[in-house]
Amino acid sequence: MPKILAVGEIGGGQLKKASREVTSVGKKLAGSVDTVLIGSGAAGCAAEVAKHGAGVVYAGEAAEYSGEAYAKAIAALVKDKGYEIVLVPHSWTGRDISSRIATHLGSAVISDATEISLDGDKVKIKKPVYSGKAYVELKCKATPQVVTIRPNSQPIAEEAGAGSVENITVDLSGLKAKQVSYSAQATNRVSVTEADIVVSGGRGIKGPENFGPMIEEMADLMGAGVGATRAVVDAGWVDHTLQIGQTGQTVSPNLYIAVGISGAIQHMAGMGSSKYIVAINKDADAPIFKVSTFGVVDDLFNVVPVMKEELKTHYGK
Ligand SMILES: Cc1cc2nc3c(=O)[nH]c(=O)nc-3n(C[C@H](O)[C@H](O)[C@H](O)COP(=O)(O)OP(=O)(O)OC[C@H]3O[C@@H](n4cnc5c(N)ncnc54)[C@H](O)[C@@H]3O)c2cc1C
Repeated sequence: MPKILAVGEIGGGQLKKASREVTSVGKKLAGSVDTVLIGSGAAGCAAEVAKHGAGVVYAGEAAEYSGEAYAKAIAALVKDKGYEIVLVPHSWTGRDISSRIATHLGSAVISDATEISLDGDKVKIKKPVYSGKAYVELKCKATPQVVTIRPNSQPIAEEAGAGSVENITVDLSGLKAKQVSYSAQATNRVSVTEADIVVSGGRGIKGPENFGPMIEEMADLMGAGVGATRAVVDAGWVDHTLQIGQTGQTVSPNLYIAVGISGAIQHMAGMGSSKYIVAINKDADAPIFKVSTFGVVDDLFNVVPVMKEELKTHYGK
């Protein structure tokens, strides 16, 4: 079996869900996997990631994020230990470091896998292209193979590994580009890319004053993430960080609730791989119904209040 290294992510000293996913994938593919975690509090997350199969956890303390430094440290580890496959989350930082890792290794990246398997020692992936209108299968011919995996697209395994910690050095000196500042949004909501449920609002909500009552309140009842279409973002109703689609975030939740969203191809590019899609739209011919598991053809201002009452009863709130 090929030797696999999963590249995890931490934030605020906590293990991110993507770390559990890439580690689980490695364990499933090869029977054993090691995981590298870089950031503040990396060693403290070793036990958590070991629950999903990590044999060795390489922990690199770094006071700030640097794609340049992280990739250099990970590539050195891959060379030193002889890893043949490197699994990276297809997140903002994963996209930043994966190509850098491959460059250091003189190799190649295959990106955004929603399905992944082994064909001998080579990784084979399937991923949506052309805004979800087609799928391609890719195989990496170079070694080591660097593969990015779409967040939330893979099951998380509860199969423990040893989780023995080895420290690695991340050199933040002499960088060519440096992070000047980092400001996280003050929100208690789960990140939209990690959320199991996403409630998303489109132009059908009519105005920014309705985003809270129609979208956010429903999301909060379920502990869901919140998204929006570009139409809503361009109108200035919500922050662009909420945009889902071709030019926004890509999400793969278990449940995606599209409220007042037409289902333009550019929007579906970012949510089409959701497991269940529920659409509420008063136009029975809206394209979103072609991809939805359940559809409600009605005025959202009638439907959402009823759903909220049902959810309050269901969740005892
Ligand atoms: C290069 C490019 C990139 C793009 N990238 C993205 C992207 O990343 N993400 C994205 O979302 N879009 C993107 N777009 C824009 C995309 O083409 C659509 O314009 C956009 O997704 C439409 O958003 P919407 O569904 O909110 O609005 P609309 O298309 O206007 O749909 C609103 C829907 O609400 C329904 N509705 C209205 N009132 C009610 C009501 N009371 N009750 C129930 N339903 C109601 C209507 O029937 C309609 O279907 C991109 C476009 C281009 C050209």
